[in-house]
Amino acid sequence: MSLDFARLELERLKEAGLYRKLRLVEGDQGPTLTLNGREVLNFCSNNYLGLANHPALREAAKAAIDRYGCGTGSSRLISGNMTLHEELEEKIAQLKGTEAALIFNSGYHANIGILPTLAGEGSVIFSDALNHASIIDGCRLSRAEVVIYPHCDLDRLESELKKAAGKTQKLIVTETLFSMDGDEAPLPEIVGLAERYGATLIVDEAHATGAFGPTGAGIVAKLGLGKRVPIQMGTLGKALGGFGAYVAGSRDLRDLLINRCRSVIYTTGLPPAVMAMGIASIDLLYREPQRRLALWHNIRALREGLRSLGFSLADSQSQIQPLIVGVASKCMAFSERLLQKDVFVQGIRPPTVPEGTSRLRITLMATHSHHHLERALRAFEEVRSQF
Ligand SMILES: *Cc1c(COP(=O)(O)O)cnc(C)c1O
Repeated sequence: MSLDFARLELERLKEAGLYRKLRLVEGDQGPTLTLNGREVLNFCSNNYLGLANHPALREAAKAAIDRYGCGTGSSRLISGNMTLHEELEEKIAQLKGTEAALIFNSGYHANIGILPTLAGEGSVIFSDALNHASIIDGCRLSRAEVVIYPHCDLDRLESELKKAAGKTQKLIVTETLFSMDGDEAPLPEIVGLAERYGATLIVDEAHATGAFGPTGAGIVAKLGLGKRVPIQMGTLGKALGGFGAYVAGSRDLRDLLINRCRSVIYTTGLPPAVMAMGIASIDLLYREPQRRLALWHNIRALREGLRSLGFSLADSQSQIQPLIVGVASKCMAFSERLLQKDVFVQGIRPPTVPEGTSRLRITLMATHSHHHLERALRAFEEVRSQF
């Protein structure tokens, strides 16, 4: 069989500056990494609280393996639903203040499963233009009509909701903290529109979980909107340092997903060790609030540092700080030069972000030290002078 089409496609990607390759990390995930054999500063991880190598998570996973073994052997709908799955779901419901929660194998699984469960032919989904690929794919799989509104544009969202007045099933889906821009959705206003026009609101707290809210429950909790947002999803793979994802909401929502959601039904349940990490990480959200404070301190310090060097900052008050470069190839060259100075900042290109908005996506961690930040700022200054 000929794979010529693969080579042609790869050549096309290289010419467009869009070719991607894997980098290899040896050792664990910290504020520094051993990347392709060299120690570098890590400014591109979503391990915002530094929990991915926390001793409590390591110990919890080992203990779970000793007690429950490794795999679940089947879907949770068959014989794969174990004690720790339900224990973690209760912890998440408590954290979120909801009746119930359901674990998914990843945030990607969650979004491609929830949307087709709740919407179908005849429904309309209103989706922010900058929503994550997993939301886009969930919309496509649902076969619903999809209305993409410009990023955070409330007037457009409202006029589109008005146009769809005759439809019985309307869903609005938005991230609460946008993954590539670091800005917050105008959530109180979106909640208001959902209520006024009879739409069901689904929020994706992938980047907000762990970092925002008094106990790290997310932006919904920070704004006290828990009772008015019926469906909240988030991941355990980012700030919570482990793997898997959740949906929090009513008992009926959980039950419906167990009965109808294909990405829950037709996949093997996550291993007990992964559930144990989730439980341990949620305990740490309560026990180590200083991690959130350290993260917020670092956000302020980096922003002040970049501003004083004359970089123009995006409108982000979060741990995600994009520096927009524009052209993909230039952005990637900037990222490579930073890496030569042992500072690892991922360049983000289309199709992850819109054409012409390629950017250096700097992410902060609670475990970055003052010294780490100073070294990064110096590298940014030096590399910029070469451009
Ligand atoms: C990362 C991410 C996901 C997917 O979560 P995983 O657990 O990594 O699969 C979903 N939504 C958003 C907004 C994300 O950034």
